[in-house]
Amino acid sequence: METPLAFPALHASHAGIWMGSNGGHVQTIGKGEAAGRAAETPMVMLNAPLVAQRLGYPDLSGLDLLELYAFVYPARFAVPTPKGLAKMLNLPAPATDQDVPLFLLRAAQNLLSVLGDPAWAEREGAWDSAQALMRLRWPWANLVLAQLKKPERPERWLFSRLPEWEEAAPRTPPRVVTLQADAVQERLASLVGGSAETRQGQRDFAQAAAAIFAPRTRKGEPHILLAEAGTGIGKTLGYLAPASLWATAADGTVWISTFTKALQRQLVREAKRMYPDHETFKSKVVVRKGRENYLCLLNLEDALQGGFAGRAATLAHLVARWAAYSHDGDMIGGDLPGWLPTLFRRNGSTALTDRRGECIYAGCPHYKKCFIERAARSSVQAEIVIANHALMMVNAARGRDEQNRPSRIIFDEGHHLFDAADSMFAAALTGQETIELRRWVIGPEGKARGRRRGLSARLADVASYDEEGGLAIEMARVAAEALPGEGWLARLAEGTPSGPIERLLSAVRTMVFARDETNATESGYGLETELADPDPKVIDAAADAAIALEALARPLTVLGQRLEAMIADPPDWLDGSARARVEGAMASLSWRIDTLRAWISMLARAVGPVDPEYIDWLAIDRFEGREMDIGMHRRWLDPMKPVAEVLLKPSHGVLATSATLRSGGDWQNAEARTGASHLDKPATHFSAISPFDYKAQAEVLIVTDIKKGDAAALAGAYAALITASGGGVLGLFTAIRRLRSTYARIADRLARDGLPLYAQHVDPIDTGTLVDIFRDDPHASLLGTDALRDGVDVPGHSLRLVIMEQIPWPRPDILHRARRLKHGGMEYDDRIIRAKMAQAFGRLIRSAGDKGHFVLLSSAVPSRLLSAFPPGTPIRRVTLEEAVNSVKSGLSSDTNLRQDGANMLEASNPI
Ligand code: SF4
Repeated sequence: METPLAFPALHASHAGIWMGSNGGHVQTIGKGEAAGRAAETPMVMLNAPLVAQRLGYPDLSGLDLLELYAFVYPARFAVPTPKGLAKMLNLPAPATDQDVPLFLLRAAQNLLSVLGDPAWAEREGAWDSAQALMRLRWPWANLVLAQLKKPERPERWLFSRLPEWEEAAPRTPPRVVTLQADAVQERLASLVGGSAETRQGQRDFAQAAAAIFAPRTRKGEPHILLAEAGTGIGKTLGYLAPASLWATAADGTVWISTFTKALQRQLVREAKRMYPDHETFKSKVVVRKGRENYLCLLNLEDALQGGFAGRAATLAHLVARWAAYSHDGDMIGGDLPGWLPTLFRRNGSTALTDRRGECIYAGCPHYKKCFIERAARSSVQAEIVIANHALMMVNAARGRDEQNRPSRIIFDEGHHLFDAADSMFAAALTGQETIELRRWVIGPEGKARGRRRGLSARLADVASYDEEGGLAIEMARVAAEALPGEGWLARLAEGTPSGPIERLLSAVRTMVFARDETNATESGYGLETELADPDPKVIDAAADAAIALEALARPLTVLGQRLEAMIADPPDWLDGSARARVEGAMASLSWRIDTLRAWISMLARAVGPVDPEYIDWLAIDRFEGREMDIGMHRRWLDPMKPVAEVLLKPSHGVLATSATLRSGGDWQNAEARTGASHLDKPATHFSAISPFDYKAQAEVLIVTDIKKGDAAALAGAYAALITASGGGVLGLFTAIRRLRSTYARIADRLARDGLPLYAQHVDPIDTGTLVDIFRDDPHASLLGTDALRDGVDVPGHSLRLVIMEQIPWPRPDILHRARRLKHGGMEYDDRIIRAKMAQAFGRLIRSAGDKGHFVLLSSAVPSRLLSAFPPGTPIRRVTLEEAVNSVKSGLSSDTNLRQDGANMLEASNPI
């Protein structure tokens, strides 16, 4: 039975603020009054940080319905809006803002009544959890406990509830098989489905992809295929057909790597078609992500036992509820609602993952239940591993898991490979990086909380058994004291650096301020200068810093050797679990030693000659005027060079595919961006144009009468276009500042017309959830920057207009300048811009039934960039008024398909 709630409910949108009570009375109130009432009486609300922002009262708290939802239905997806919640709870959705407060009360009653339902699937553990939350003064705790019956017997707690993974024998190498063309086509037809017809483009794609599974003819020369396949070709099933066929016949594993979560989810859905039986699917298909994505049970236990205080502790308990019911323990892209950590202002959520490589492996009491270990083990036996570029690069860069190195790899969204490699093979000798290393070696100092241990605590048994190893640990601890400690940023600002690394950072800071020419000093954003002809102070400090880092690298190297010797000739006490712990320590040790070596080599550059393989510079990272980090940076001029060595060459077959693989350039460009140009065996090429009828489905409008730099005109144009389209707009910005100013000018106005506007960098909601909200409401519009340009997959009516406020010129930083110089100047810039525009346009037409406009609010669009759009797409240069009229009348009438002869593109994609 639903219990009436004694509390009022509060709802705030850009259109106004409403308060309602259980008597059915709803009133509109002002911001000040709402904040005052909320401070006096707890109020039911949906997404308290969002309501707080709308009210301009950051400390607002109350009975957040989303927290109650996370308690009652952990690991169940819900869009965090009244409509989304109504759908999940099977309640009628409120029709207007005014109806929302009473809906919130109804939803709260509904959720509380579930707690008494004998059929409630997530009951186990709820009582203990609610008791703990009560002690933390969780606002819902009393109401929850009033509904929950105390269990008759003690219930299984999270750590006993989770299943243990099982050790399996190492997998034998794959058999040699050759895929027959008709078998590939048959598999494709069965995946596409009996009634549906496969398209020729997809059949050709599958056949081309099958070639990478042919037996290799020479070591170090994998088969490599570069395939550009326009949107709608059906390339996922196109490559899954030969991949699954090979994996079964050869008893091997194919790794499929994506860049966006949207594609990863789509792949999981498609893979389910191959293995409709759930148990078979689970054993054959595994999703792998970087370890920093997963919940670390040891960190969670620590948080639950007092490591976290206040609101962070409440979050830890809600995460524990989720972990007991989670499918895979993935906190970032899995079944933990993306909005849950943001309700706690991200307080503590990252500390629950293993971000700093502190895992103690078999020394951990939860090792046999660990989500990360389970995912790693199941991928050894799987036929298909769905991974992401970042994980592929980190495994390649850190060289772990030699035995299970991917041998057949498919990189989908291959146009992102370069950027993924660029950040993974980068080095940064900065304050934040060095303080992390200090903590890893020394452990907690001063008032630090948590379970973090230094090297000596983690390897106490090694130290007591092996004198040399013990001495190395002690020497490392002493040497690590030369690294920056707590308060380093303040000391640098005051000119009182402590130790050789802080002195280096201080000299770097002075040099950057003196030489920066980005004119960003006043704007509050990052400053940089190249590492050329450095100041004498930087040279002297770099020499001292190198000596200090050497003093740390030496004992760590000795320790690594001692651990290796221990594994080779194990003492009696080194049982299975101690061995696994020592192996884990070796892995994280070698990663730290590599980092130290990279830093020392950067410092050598400061005092010596230029290395043409790298780009080096000095930078001060700032956010809104506040200094966040200071240091030296190094990137490969061509990061695909190391990728080709450590990832491509050792493999047997690689497919890199994307709708924009040539990134607006030619095949040479695709070869450079995927690393194929560094291989001895030439890559084969394949391309297929999209089957979509862009001439009828889309239109590009270039608006010529918005003056650059006129913020009011820009905002006015957005408002007019969003109104004309009735929402369903994705607005892309190249600067956060302009995004915020546009949003501030138009959000209220649009909300009053029933057109909600959401924005990245403004709303306290994570990007994935913003996209979910946008997808769920055809009247909503979403503003954002880079992450939305390529990560939004919203087929259908919810996205019918993409607006780009400016040409996405590359940021003219030192890194860009060096690569531009090497790769052809303006043509290099053009390729980058065309690729970005093509990706943004790609959000619009996702399926054969989609229709929409792409509007560029910039008159300065050179015609040479227009080849970014698919062949046949009509392009017109128009005034804002004409654009608004076109958007208003949609694409159904022929008048909208008028073409600007001068700019109309001819079909130019070769096959
Ligand atoms: S094995 Fe490592 S990652 Fe897993 S729970 Fe234990 S400490 Fe955390």
